[in-house]
Amino acid sequence: MTRTASILAVGSELLGTTRLDTNSLFLTGELEAIGIRVVRKACVVDGWDDLLAELAFALSRAPLLCVTGGLGPTEDDRTKEAVAALLGRRLVRDEEILDRLRERFRKRGREMPEVNAKQADVVEGAVVLPNRRGTAPGYIVEADGKTIVLLPGVPWEMKAIFAESVLPFLTRGGAPPGLHRRVLKVVGLGESAVEELVRPVYEAHRECDVTILAAAPGEVQLHFAARGSLAEARRALDVLEADFRSAVGPALFGRDDETLEGVVGALLRNAGLTLAVAESCTGGMVSARITDVAGSSAYFLGGAVAYANETKTEVLGISAEILETHGAVSEEVARGMAAEVRRRLGAAAGLGVTGIAGPGGGTPDKPVGTVHLALDAADGTRRHERLVLPGDRAMVRRWTTSAALGMIRAWLTERGGTE
Ligand code: AMP
Ligand code: MG
Repeated sequence: MTRTASILAVGSELLGTTRLDTNSLFLTGELEAIGIRVVRKACVVDGWDDLLAELAFALSRAPLLCVTGGLGPTEDDRTKEAVAALLGRRLVRDEEILDRLRERFRKRGREMPEVNAKQADVVEGAVVLPNRRGTAPGYIVEADGKTIVLLPGVPWEMKAIFAESVLPFLTRGGAPPGLHRRVLKVVGLGESAVEELVRPVYEAHRECDVTILAAAPGEVQLHFAARGSLAEARRALDVLEADFRSAVGPALFGRDDETLEGVVGALLRNAGLTLAVAESCTGGMVSARITDVAGSSAYFLGGAVAYANETKTEVLGISAEILETHGAVSEEVARGMAAEVRRRLGAAAGLGVTGIAGPGGGTPDKPVGTVHLALDAADGTRRHERLVLPGDRAMVRRWTTSAALGMIRAWLTERGGTE
């Protein structure tokens, strides 16, 4: 028998225009991995009647219901109250939780506000799931053969409680076979180019679902999954991964949670090399991605956002004559930026980025999306790439950061670098 679940995301903000329910994506992946199929999910406002109706319906559709949100201290957080009302149970104040809450506030040098006391209310008969990362514990409530899991809405808290308490509960008889997913990431090739390279592989593995998608500007992802126990699925995924890797070649840079900036960082660190970056059209976005990685100070020296022509001259010494003759968006300027930022910061490699992000500023020769990237390394490597990228300003800029990181990565892997 396939086990099934419903997911309910509680919170009026999730029905507005600024917040997406991402908790259900995480929960779906986790549940699928242990053989539980999500058959419905919904977002509901904090209003009492809607919440009650939605809980009742979601619970009627599957034996397991995972609810996130509405466990906070404020008036509109009423998930527990609604579950208690639905099951005809009382809410009981748990002194142990209350003590822990008070202690948590005391450690931060504050008195617990009285409103928080309601976070110590427990639906009669529920199992309390400790929350190391916040004030609202999670709960497992069992009633009439159904299981309701209540989790806080804050993703960082919800994920920890799920991993520490809910997963062990759901797999207490051993982990059943499930759906296990893997993602491979590619830079520097378009969706259709990747599709062409990998088609023979997925045609030979029809048992696996494979999806190719342009995940972010400049990055294509291969998503695939296999069913079975974790060990069985892993074996199948490993075979598929090896085949994909040989089909795609060096453009494949990582898997699952790996990021391009993380991979570039590991390559630099392992090679003992340092990097400096001079950016124009990306305004610091390349540096931001590099420094998103904890520990990047080991290899990233810094650089310059040289946006105006005068800054390119004053900060990086790009001559007014070169700027005048070739234009700020040119091979010569990109190369000059890379060489000068490397020299001035004493780095092993310098990267120069200049382009026309749009929407204005394009010409027939240099349309919007024209980007010049250059790499200048102390080992004598000099590289340049001209790209004409599609999309709007945001897309061109983001794509440029991926292409720039891809350029550094290509140089490092061709030198024989390892992550
Ligand atoms: P709550 O537990 O309802 O107080 O939610 C606290 C915060 O967690 C909200 O302000 C949201 O920013 C976030 N949050 C709540 N539900 C979700 C969800 N389903 N997906 C992503 N974030 C959420
Ligand atoms: Mg809420």
